[in-house]
Amino acid sequence: MGRRPHDAKGDGRGVSDSGVSDIRAKTGNSTRVVGAGRRKEWTAGIVNTPVWRASTILYDSVADLRASGARDTHHRLFYGRRGTPTQWTLADALTELEPGAEGTFLYPSGVAAIAAALLSVLAPGDELLCVDSAYDPTRGIANGLLKRMGITTRFYDPMIGAGIADLIGERTRAVLIESPGSLTFEVQDVPAIVAAAKARGVVTILDNTWATPLLFPAIEHGIDLSILACTKYVVGHSDVMLGSVTAAPGHFARLRETSFQLGQVASPDDAWLGSRGLRTMAVRLKHHEASALRIAQWLAARPEIATVLHPALPSCPGHDYWKRDFLGSSGLFAFALNGGDEAARAALIDGLDLFGIGYSWGGFESLALPIDPARHRTATAPDFAGPLVRLQIGLEDTDDLIADLAAGLRRFSAAM
Ligand SMILES: *Cc1c(COP(=O)(O)O)cnc(C)c1O
Repeated sequence: MGRRPHDAKGDGRGVSDSGVSDIRAKTGNSTRVVGAGRRKEWTAGIVNTPVWRASTILYDSVADLRASGARDTHHRLFYGRRGTPTQWTLADALTELEPGAEGTFLYPSGVAAIAAALLSVLAPGDELLCVDSAYDPTRGIANGLLKRMGITTRFYDPMIGAGIADLIGERTRAVLIESPGSLTFEVQDVPAIVAAAKARGVVTILDNTWATPLLFPAIEHGIDLSILACTKYVVGHSDVMLGSVTAAPGHFARLRETSFQLGQVASPDDAWLGSRGLRTMAVRLKHHEASALRIAQWLAARPEIATVLHPALPSCPGHDYWKRDFLGSSGLFAFALNGGDEAARAALIDGLDLFGIGYSWGGFESLALPIDPARHRTATAPDFAGPLVRLQIGLEDTDDLIADLAAGLRRFSAAM
């Protein structure tokens, strides 16, 4: 959908051959999310590319129709499934946010993006190495669809680092990385894993949803395919399902071809909401970061809490890698209670006023979720002193959230 626009006319503000403004390429994140993916030929002067809905595209003549089929349909209206400027705007914006990337394809959900990334690389007989702390539906793809296709998966310890080299065998075709891990937030040694994979011609696929390219520019770190559940921070308002895969040079053509064959297309309306959300993502992330960090530190000092799993805290496995590789932290983390059972944890969560109880994250509202990571592990067995709670810190006032959690911890202690 959105290869780096070689033929771009741009919006007339110092645009280079690559279609990306030289000035913008050197700017900070907040400046880049405002301008990325915008082209005058798609907006006609309107600030946001409007919603171009289409299935049929009409041609002037039989000759015109034939010619369109013969040329590359990238950034050209061809048929609705190949997208319109609404999807191209978001795809190009995501490509521009990943220095060194070749292109981005959009999907109707994050899980669809993960499945397409895997299918674009793997074939029957191949082996996938998948981190044990992967998002559970990613495990589902490996243990279901991939297994049925004759693709085997070995799950590895998120702290394996350079040790991944020992797992790479003749049939190993790809490594799936997720850093920090879902639920338990282990930060992986991505440079070491990338180096080991590259040495053996193995493709690296990263689920970068927690950090986004703003906090971890994945392609720059040598990742081949970088996945976002745009449902989370890109959309940012808990009202749209959307996913993306951004590819390093040499990986985009196969990704796009596979995605076309799967019939993948994100709706123009959803892509439009994604672009709308993206424009404020940098400023939202700064608030999520500051508020989540303060709350995590406050929790870490409480006697009811055994450990806080937040990449920016030394108590989090891989914290040193986070310090070395990441440009900041976002708003999702977890903590383990100091003892207590299911009922005590429910007493904490059920009475919260400002935290909703529900799946997903990345929106403007705070959420609390009971999590049981050990249930989803096969290669490692994380062990905690008590039950775990995952928090998504939204855009409310931090003091209000802390007061709500303090009352929750009192209910927890009373229920112990
Ligand atoms: C939510 C999530 C996904 C899946 O995204 P959906 O849009 O809900 O399908 C993938 N990876 C991670 C880490 C997630 O948190």
